Amino acid sequence: MDKKIEQKDPVNVLIVGVGGQGVIMVSKVLATICQEYGYQVKQSEVHGMSKRGGSVFSHVRFGKQVFSPTIPKGSVDVLLALEWAEALRWINHLKPGKGTFISDTQHIVPPFACLNRKRGAEAGYSRETPDHILSRIKDGFALDATGMARELGNEKTANMILLGLLSMALEFPEHDWRHVISRLVPPKTVDINLRAFDQGREWAGVVHENPDLAARHMPAEKLAPGVLGPDHDELSDFVRLVINLDWCKSCDICVKMCPERCLKLDVRLKAVLTEPDRCTGCRICEWLCPDLAITVYRTPEAAQAAANV
Ligand code: SF4
Ligand code: SF4
Repeated sequence: MDKKIEQKDPVNVLIVGVGGQGVIMVSKVLATICQEYGYQVKQSEVHGMSKRGGSVFSHVRFGKQVFSPTIPKGSVDVLLALEWAEALRWINHLKPGKGTFISDTQHIVPPFACLNRKRGAEAGYSRETPDHILSRIKDGFALDATGMARELGNEKTANMILLGLLSMALEFPEHDWRHVISRLVPPKTVDINLRAFDQGREWAGVVHENPDLAARHMPAEKLAPGVLGPDHDELSDFVRLVINLDWCKSCDICVKMCPERCLKLDVRLKAVLTEPDRCTGCRICEWLCPDLAITVYRTPEAAQAAANV
């Protein structure tokens, strides 16, 4: 980052992503630390679609005095995006020539973007690359935060990697960020969330030394236009579905909602994938499971990692 954002009234941070990625946790951490420093904070969220893979966004405004809870278009100081298409959806809200852009390059292709449900089918998705986007922005990062978080051991901590980058743009001291994160995340996940946060801060330092890396750390296949799998035979190398049976409460939602009818409840009344060859990796089951028991892996590395569990 070129420099810290001047914390005069108000500072506007827009956090966007897809349901289940941790948008609200990022905004809670930010709002809490702002409050603890005596700032007036206004926060407004839309997260009604969070269990349906829909867009989630949160406006956080802080300063000596803040009147409106929503950020006017063109007034965003920092756009923090947990998903690439969501980043592009909101990019025009950045302050022209000034705003900081921080985004995961992860693609989450919504099921309704599939042009057909056959394996290998193209899905409608933006083809804008990180290099292209960053060339239009003064200060920005586009990184494979999800991949980095997966390497750490939990891809759900990608939000903390991005929060680490955000923390480098604001004036609050590192130990206060760490303290607030430790209080707000589930106790069992404090350690890995803090490690993810540290990794985001380290990445900001690396990019500061080597600006050419701003759009790096993303496997090339992540940037291929939305493709569900290369072809019929290789699909299993691209999609793995992991069901945590301890968390499955037998509600049957995934079974009923899977468009390919490839899930069933077994004799223990636990969800199992009975027709793996038909699974297209659409992630509807993952998004709809109320107990977060299903994870769909759609990249070769993730599929391999899941296979090794
Ligand atoms: S939606 Fe989740 S909890 Fe319900 S049956 Fe499927 S895996 Fe189990
Ligand atoms: S099992 Fe899940 S990911 Fe596979 S097709 Fe069914 S809903 Fe989609």
